[in-house]
Amino acid sequence: MTKQTINKGDILIADNQVESLRLLSKILEKEGYKVRQAIDGEMVLIAVDTKIPDLILLGVNLDTVDGYQICQQLKKQEKTENIPIIFLNDFDHFSDKIKAFKSGGIDYLLKPYQQQELLVRIENHLEVGLKIEQLKQTNKNLEKKLKFIEISQQFQQQIPLESHLLYEAIAVTNNSIIITDATASDYPIVYVNPGFEAMTGYSFEEVAGKNCRFLQGSDRQQPQLEQIRHCLHHGQACHVTLRNYRKDGSLFWNEISLSPIKDESDNIIYYIGVQTDVTDKKRANEQQERYEASLQKMNRELHELNQKLYRLANMDGLTEVANRRCFDETLEQEWRRLSREKKPLSLILGDIDYFKRYNDKYGHLGGDDCLKKVAAVMAQATFRPADLVARYGGEEFAVILPNTPEEGAKEVAQRILDSLRKLRIPHQASDVKPYVTMSLGLGTITPCLDTDITSFVDQVDEALFEAKKQGRDRLKSK
Ligand code: GH3
Ligand code: MG
Ligand code: MG
Repeated sequence: MTKQTINKGDILIADNQVESLRLLSKILEKEGYKVRQAIDGEMVLIAVDTKIPDLILLGVNLDTVDGYQICQQLKKQEKTENIPIIFLNDFDHFSDKIKAFKSGGIDYLLKPYQQQELLVRIENHLEVGLKIEQLKQTNKNLEKKLKFIEISQQFQQQIPLESHLLYEAIAVTNNSIIITDATASDYPIVYVNPGFEAMTGYSFEEVAGKNCRFLQGSDRQQPQLEQIRHCLHHGQACHVTLRNYRKDGSLFWNEISLSPIKDESDNIIYYIGVQTDVTDKKRANEQQERYEASLQKMNRELHELNQKLYRLANMDGLTEVANRRCFDETLEQEWRRLSREKKPLSLILGDIDYFKRYNDKYGHLGGDDCLKKVAAVMAQATFRPADLVARYGGEEFAVILPNTPEEGAKEVAQRILDSLRKLRIPHQASDVKPYVTMSLGLGTITPCLDTDITSFVDQVDEALFEAKKQGRDRLKSK
């Protein structure tokens, strides 16, 4: 290993001589080390607790507690036992040297230091420390691998090579794999693969022996948990998606396939869970659902808008029956259709009697109100869906009656006259009756594409004129 890779070590120097501390710091910082200083035993412990240093240069003579005691204390704790400690002393006493090594020191240096020697020793110890760390990690991995091979061999008499290949496959997959012991109470975890560690942030050491429920944190009200309980109870496999929480507390959606593993006697000895983080998929689905909901809402609004537009374009705003535009279009359509079908079409044109006088007497708003009532009477007098009542102009109305012979149309016309009379809308200025009346003209034709619609409408209008002439409040057919 070159100097380059270890020269960023974090070194803690402890000495009760400020001058000595300053000098050592200067030498080491110049070499690229990050240096922290402590002048007594208490400060050493605080500094180590704040951040574990890569190496400690520890003065034998410290205030309050001596260096040996500090060293012993650090070697007792798992967190700090591996920090390499080099003792510094002013005097060359053999007994001091023995004490230093006995308390756990790795090296012993006498003042004044040979700068080169000091640096070489520090480098060596850091390098050895690093190697020990790497060996420990490798050891840990081997232990895990061994555990897994033990498990796989237990439920299947596989040859070690297959177990090894299986282990490697499980180690490289992004899926998280958990194995729990079904023979122990509360299904403790006996194995997790690196995929689990990457997915959840928990190491094997942190979760070994625990039940998987810690992954749900306090979010225990999930119906899928009942499904898992049911499957475990009945020794079945199951597939669920749960809300789980990583070590850092963040939520993820975990799609879990849980399967029982049986021994030769068909007893369940393990459960194996294969887990996939489906958070992105879930979010995409939620987004899609939100998008579809807003699309549906937009469609509904568009539909309502279209209906409104249709009404605006085809309906008379005051009386809410069809307007003149709709009347013209419908008449033309029915004319064509009934020409083909050779069926009769009837048309009623109606005009309120003495309506000018009505306006004069009851005011324009009173007149509007009367128009609404007359329109309603006419609408109620027509029964078939194809019949169309329209406001033809000012106080004139029209009824298109497709597929209706004269007799039928007369009945409709009579219903209109009778209903209006029955309403008894007061009209003191009328010469006919003291209430509102109407005159109606009626025409029936079997349309033919050669005949002109306008001349038919004119004929019905003439019939209406005739009704007016003959005294109003009546029906006249052409
Ligand atoms: P006739 O019996 O001969 O039909 O006499 P009339 O007074 O009803 O006929 P005329 O054509 O002279 O008058 C029609 C009146 O209808 C004129 C107009 O003030 C009134 N009118 C037309 N459209 C409306 C409307 O939208 N609201 C109101 N209030 N009156 C209207
Ligand atoms: Mg008129
Ligand atoms: Mg009139």
